[in-house]
Amino acid sequence: MSVSADLTRLIFGLFLGIILPRIPLLFFTRVLNMERELVPHPDPIPIGVPLVQRLLLMRRVHAMCWLIAILAMGIGLLILRSSPEPFAVGLVAGVAWFVLSRMVPMQMGRGFGIIPLSLIQEINNLRKPQTGCCNQQFLQWEVRAIRCKNCRDIALNLPRPDLGRIRSDGRLIGTLRTLLMDGHSAFPPIEDSVVSQGVELLGKVTEEE
Ligand SMILES: [Zn+2]
Repeated sequence: MSVSADLTRLIFGLFLGIILPRIPLLFFTRVLNMERELVPHPDPIPIGVPLVQRLLLMRRVHAMCWLIAILAMGIGLLILRSSPEPFAVGLVAGVAWFVLSRMVPMQMGRGFGIIPLSLIQEINNLRKPQTGCCNQQFLQWEVRAIRCKNCRDIALNLPRPDLGRIRSDGRLIGTLRTLLMDGHSAFPPIEDSVVSQGVELLGKVTEEE
């Protein structure tokens, strides 16, 4: 068999291995309209029961992705046991990338996965916070963190993951984002960003002078 035919099958397998496990995520966040209870994208989402329910639903969608990944990995490995098929090598490599992208936590100490159960618990607790930041406390999940709408106090410094709302930038870009980011936010938490670190450093320098 020619090298180019092998290469084509390898790339096809790789492509399939990358796309297949993400199909539930693409279907539920980009094809189905899950707009019902939440405010439209990109508005901040108020902390409340609809948000907690959506987080639980997204967790189930991510679990479905895992199920397909395990199936695809199994099929790839089964084929590889009988013959060194380039398509299966690509498939296994593609799924392995999915597994790696899910196993590496975005933030240490926050649990594994895009939406860990501990995070949902934490957000559920924010519905009735122990401490109030101001007398008109209204917490909402903005792009970069959960903040109070009135006093801008940060209740939870965590960028908002993809919650399955139809994105304001359209379905095509939304689909690409899902494939590349896996539902993670493209933004770092507030103090982690290079810009805010720079601003802080500048503040220290001017204080010293
Ligand atoms: Zn406040």
